[in-house]
Amino acid sequence: MSDEELIKKYVPNDNYEEALQKLKSGYPVQYIIGNVEFYNSLIKVNENVLIPRFETEYLVEKTIKYLKKININNPKILEIGTGSGCIAIALKKHLNCDVDAIDINPKAITIAKDNAILNKVDINFMHLDIHDFKSENKYDLIISNPPYVPIGNEVDEKTKYEPQNAIFASDNGLYFYKIILNKVKNNLKPNYLIAFEIGDKEEIYLDEYIKTILPNSYIKIEKDYNNYERYLFVSNSQI
Ligand code: GLN
Repeated sequence: MSDEELIKKYVPNDNYEEALQKLKSGYPVQYIIGNVEFYNSLIKVNENVLIPRFETEYLVEKTIKYLKKININNPKILEIGTGSGCIAIALKKHLNCDVDAIDINPKAITIAKDNAILNKVDINFMHLDIHDFKSENKYDLIISNPPYVPIGNEVDEKTKYEPQNAIFASDNGLYFYKIILNKVKNNLKPNYLIAFEIGDKEEIYLDEYIKTILPNSYIKIEKDYNNYERYLFVSNSQI
């Protein structure tokens, strides 16, 4: 469906002209209509959350594939930086699993909870900054699409309407991977999977860092449909 058709479908007639003007000014259609399709689920969005991307559907798909490959069947999952909740919801719908999901922004958690209700799934969404994460729980899967665009990099014009702290990260984009790895390294089950969406070329620098935190791990990189290295998986098993 074209953006105009989406607006016709979702925006009440009275607001149609105004919505069309907003679209012409470059405002994202997903915020205008208030939802987006992600991995066969309808996900509600507003300016408090990043708009779910196509690439991130692949993260979900590949994660499900690797969980099977390493024989993890009923995973206990932690998602960090859940935003709209799209990843957590997609996983919960496709796996027999138990999902905790955190976000630094309480307004994002409100939307994520609405999305869980909309999609009839039960997820433990919590307002928590990863810097404050402290838990005795052991997880089979840690998954995150954190902010990873290096500060100062050029991005699509439309992203200026999205929460900037969901997009940009310091340390050449690596800041949150390092925090996450440090925070969760003692919360992994013996047979575990870590799944990250990453920025272009970030695997080169992450590889070495991961080996210092999880010395006996295996790392696997996968590309997105544009042929960019976009997903990084870490496991105790050869994947
Ligand atoms: N991939 C997103 C973009 O290109 C950024 C989201 C993120 O940093 N996780 O805008």
